Amino acid sequence: MKKFGLFIGGKWVVPDSKARFISLNPATKKPVASFPSANEKDVLYAISIAKAAFPKWSAIPAPKRGEVLLRFASLLRKNKERLARVVTQEMGKVLLEARGDVQEAIDAAEYMAGEGRRLFGYTAPSELPNKAAFTVREPIGVCALITPWNFPVAIPAWKMMPALVCGNTVVFKPSSDTPLCAAMFVELLHEAGIPGGVVNMVTGSGGIVGPVLVQNPDVRTVSFTGNRETGEWIAKNAGVKKIGLELGGKNPIIIMDDADLHLALEGVLWGAFGTTGQRCTAASRVIVHEKVFAEFEKMLVVAAKKLRLGSGASSSADVGPLINQKALEKSQYFVSVGIKEGARLLCGGKRGPHSGFFFEPTVFSGVAQKMRVAREEIFGPIVCLIKVKNLAEAIKTANDVDYGLSASIYTKGISNAFKAIEQLESGIVYVNASTIGAEVHLPFGGVKGTGNGVREAGIEGINEFSETKTVYIDYSGKLQRAQIDD
Ligand code: NAD
Repeated sequence: MKKFGLFIGGKWVVPDSKARFISLNPATKKPVASFPSANEKDVLYAISIAKAAFPKWSAIPAPKRGEVLLRFASLLRKNKERLARVVTQEMGKVLLEARGDVQEAIDAAEYMAGEGRRLFGYTAPSELPNKAAFTVREPIGVCALITPWNFPVAIPAWKMMPALVCGNTVVFKPSSDTPLCAAMFVELLHEAGIPGGVVNMVTGSGGIVGPVLVQNPDVRTVSFTGNRETGEWIAKNAGVKKIGLELGGKNPIIIMDDADLHLALEGVLWGAFGTTGQRCTAASRVIVHEKVFAEFEKMLVVAAKKLRLGSGASSSADVGPLINQKALEKSQYFVSVGIKEGARLLCGGKRGPHSGFFFEPTVFSGVAQKMRVAREEIFGPIVCLIKVKNLAEAIKTANDVDYGLSASIYTKGISNAFKAIEQLESGIVYVNASTIGAEVHLPFGGVKGTGNGVREAGIEGINEFSETKTVYIDYSGKLQRAQIDD
């Protein structure tokens, strides 16, 4: 098993901390790689190196920074299969999806490389004569990027590509479940030509590394993706700095009585059981019109029972393992909660027959919106069927949770679709498609408990990682006083 150090200043360094942890293959529970559990001194060192690298990196013209990202995209492409196999090995998702994870990073790098030639500000007329007014974008400084394990390549890319093209330097803290994916990511970035010190990676416990990053005054922005409790802690403790929070979801799919049920079924299977339900945009509630409820329920159970659990590396597996023991216990716990609350367990509900962290695709029916299984993020392959009388009730039910990331409606009616688009409380709405499938050039993020209003990806990603400077140039040759002189 390979033993890593911390990646600081463009090389692997021996940490001050002697503590280490091991990432596991969730399909086999076999060790994958060993990484340091950084202590406060290690994290402070990484921050100081990122701070020292900032003046030089931020002075490089943005189009040149973009060229490095383009080289990174091409290296990712070259290494796509190798990296995807490591994603499957360490995170567990099936290989088809692991390739998608890497592809998303390629897309993000290519898109953000192009932003190096834009980074647009804007001009506006001044209210005074002989005076120009415009805005420019500037980097923020040292960014802490704190990421989860479910998209171990794509999520770091969503954050790091805009951060770098805007001229920031980075301390990257990946999840302890997927550090090898992160290590390969930063190694490829350096092969692409990122100067030493611009991207630094510290691994270790979120409870130790996280607070140092979040509270350090030299870290000017924190971009976090993870669970709601951690996000709330960051919001309370970051002090006066820019923070981006991408948190959980409890995403609904509405199926109306005029929907193409076969299409809806494919969307529910993909949304609920893809990535073993471990996507922030996973469909965990299916809200079905009473006229088609019985038929859809039958179709879903038949199809869910056919899904094959197995190692993501095997071409015969449809659904891989959960990430770890804790996730497995959480799914088991919520099955018992659902049964106790009176929901009907139609299939699944048990761990898989393998030694890894497998859990069967699970369908609950007869679910009432007040039940915990319908309100709390489970992050496993568990879907709840909820019966409603009409569109108004469907939308009310869909909105009746603390989260608001993604929502979907299956209908052939344009009026149903537009009402849903208008009234669903979520950052993303799909019509006749599942709740998952974000593209890198469009904004990504949610409302209510899902986040703090920041959006990632596309131009919003540039907004997250840049400051706006407003410039006034007075060429009148005299004192002109805004709001005072006519
Ligand atoms: P998590 O919050 O446990 O961990 C995320 C990261 O935060 C890890 O790197 C962890 O080490 C670190 N961390 C832990 N404590 C910290 C602290 N006090 N300060 C700073 N960092 C700390 O989340 P997870 O279990 O890795 O990920 C699953 C969650 O992520 C789910 O809730 C899911 O919905 C969410 N998620 C959201 C999005 C989105 O874009 N909205 C995308 C993917 C995942």
